[in-house]
Formats: sequence, structure tokens, C-alpha cells
Amino acid sequence: MNTDKKECLLCGRDAQCVEQNYPGYQEPDIFFIYNCVYCNTQFSYPRVEARHIYEMIYEKAETVPGYNRYYEYKNKVKTVENPLQYLASAEEAYWVIDNALKQDIEKNDLKILECGCGMGYLTYSLHKAGFNVIGLDISQNAVNEATENFGELYVCANIFEYAMEHKEEYDRIILTQVIEHIEEPIKWLETLLIMLKKGGKIILSTENKTIYPKNAIWQSDLPPIHIWWFSEKSFKYIANKINASIKFTDFSKYISDSKSIGIGKVPYNQHRFDKNGNVVVTTHAPVKQNNSKSLLRRLQEKIPFISYIYRKFWKHYIFFGKRRWVMGVILEKRNLI
Ligand SMILES: [Zn+2]
Repeated sequence: MNTDKKECLLCGRDAQCVEQNYPGYQEPDIFFIYNCVYCNTQFSYPRVEARHIYEMIYEKAETVPGYNRYYEYKNKVKTVENPLQYLASAEEAYWVIDNALKQDIEKNDLKILECGCGMGYLTYSLHKAGFNVIGLDISQNAVNEATENFGELYVCANIFEYAMEHKEEYDRIILTQVIEHIEEPIKWLETLLIMLKKGGKIILSTENKTIYPKNAIWQSDLPPIHIWWFSEKSFKYIANKINASIKFTDFSKYISDSKSIGIGKVPYNQHRFDKNGNVVVTTHAPVKQNNSKSLLRRLQEKIPFISYIYRKFWKHYIFFGKRRWVMGVILEKRNLI
């Protein structure tokens, strides 16, 4: 079998094999990693059933690095006054949602669906912020637990069946760190569009390959948990394919206490399970990011006042870095005549 090349699973053009023995989420699984130069997407192959690994993560989530923070969020949102603001300042993925919704003035009228709501803390936080929101997840366990914790805000359903019963019902559909797990992202997003009213938007966050050098390989959760590592180009391709207009989140105004993951000077930790289900962590050396932080960017993270002054007087954001390790994508349903 010739493994050097394969049809890009996103755009269908030629993708090159860049790694033949990439470790999977559980030992001893290994995967091929393919890179498509046309849409700048990486994907893992073969595509295999991952349910048993998800179950293991779910079971051990409190101790699995990268997932344990979700537990912290789940507990913390109930103790803070403004949970949405708390999440937004904790992590880029939630800032993307908060920032996009802030552009919408009459927020109480917006009907929102969170797809892949997991433990349910973001849905709850949006509800607390006054939005009319429902959280949807395919896992009955997750939905039961979320309902028990946060109230009747959740529904367990298969997205394709749910969409057929809820056509043009929502103003916003949000997905945080979900799309990189989905086998057929184009078909999936097309299905979400069915549920949107005209002019409605999908707001999603996922890791951004664009920020890494061209030769970087899979700085993301191991396959088959993450099966895609998308770039901005990937989403331009997708938007065109599903006939939606597209915008990316500009992170210039994002100030966080957390360090960027895996870029700049911070090493990147990948976690997986050994054969017996014990957690193993591998540390990768940090890679240089494409828009590396300037002295000013570093200063503004340390001294918020400098950031304030610059935002006030500097209308373009060259010093602040528009990109982070996460990207925010806003896909708007076009008004068809
Ligand atoms: Zn491609």
C-alpha cells in the first residue's frame, strides 16, 4: 500500500504523509498523520472507533491532564457571580463565545444551542448571563449529570435527528473544542445550518494550526480523540463548501492569566493511556509560533495598563497578536433569496 500520499479527507486534493508512527491515545495504537498543503489541514488515519477511549477519559477525567480543568470549571461556575466572565478569562475557547455574543445587542431574544455541551457548565453560564440556551450532547451520562448539577437545560440527542425536528429554530449554535473530534465536519456543520434561522451564526472554537510553523506535526490531542488539526484555511474551505460567510476571532483584546500552550517558551504536554489505562504524559519542546510575541505583547500581558493605553490609542493590533493557539470561527448562514 502506498502510504506517502492520500486524498485529503477535507478537501479531496493530495495530502502527504508526514508521520507514519504517530502514537495514539492508547498504547500501542499508532496512526498515520497526513498534511494537506492546499487546505493546510492535518488529519489522522486510519479512522477507528474511539468510544472505549472516550469512556476511559470520562471515567478518569479528574486526573487526565488537559481534561481535569473541565472539572474545575464545572465546580467553579456555581461559586462565582458571573460564570460566563469567569470562563472567558480562564480560556480562549470561551472568550471566543463571550466575545462573539457581546456583538449581539438584544441578547435575551437570542435562542442558543450548545452542541457537545459535555459537563454543561458553559450552557449553565450562558443561562446565568440571561440567554435562552439549550445544551445538547450525545452522551446520556453527560446529560444526566449536567441536569443534576445545573437544572433542566439539557437534551440528549443525535444531532442529525435533532436537526430535522428543529429547522430554523436557533439564532446561534456554539461549539467549543468539538469539531476536531468529528469524523465528517462538513456534513455536521451543514446540518447545524439547517437549525439556524436566516442570518443565524455558528460560533466555534478549535485549535489553530495556522499559528505553528509549516513543518509542525500534530500539536493537538492524540488520535483517535482528535482526528483533525485545522487551520484557518481549512475553515475557509469549509465555509465555501457549505455556503456560509466566515469571520475569525481577533484575539488582540484577549488578556489571560494562562500561558499559551505549546508555543513560545512553554513546552507542550501530550497525554495518553498505556495498555493498562494509566495516564502517560510526554513533553514536547516548545515550537516557535508564527506571530511570536513582541516585547510589547509580553508587557501588556504583565501590565494591563499598557494594554489599555495601546487599545485606546492604537487602532491596529500588530503588537497584540490576533492569533492564539485556539481560533474562533464564526460562520453565518446566508440569506438565500
Ligand atoms: Zn485539503
